[in-house]
Amino acid sequence: MQKDSNIVVAETRPNRATGSIVCLLDNRNGALDSGAVDQETGEWTAGAADPRMRWFGVCDTHGTYVFHRTRKQATEWLAWPQDWCDQCSSTAPPEAGSAED
Ligand SMILES: [Zn+2]
Repeated sequence: MQKDSNIVVAETRPNRATGSIVCLLDNRNGALDSGAVDQETGEWTAGAADPRMRWFGVCDTHGTYVFHRTRKQATEWLAWPQDWCDQCSSTAPPEAGSAED
């Protein structure tokens, strides 16, 4: 994904299950446009996403990201990129995560 100097990266960590690098972005300042991809046309529409989605979980390895309302929710999802990153889901072993702390 495109990085902007105004975007605040709250956390960056490797994911043990998938081996990819995941980041938590703090977008409370609105630096990153929370647009959305139209499911039918595949086209990006700026500002289409819920403006309350201020936290972004990002798979930096594959350039996938997902929006969340709260940091708590985003942090929880960050541990499971195989659930929201297609490429992570295809690389993680089926039972991955069952022994996570
Ligand atoms: Zn990924």
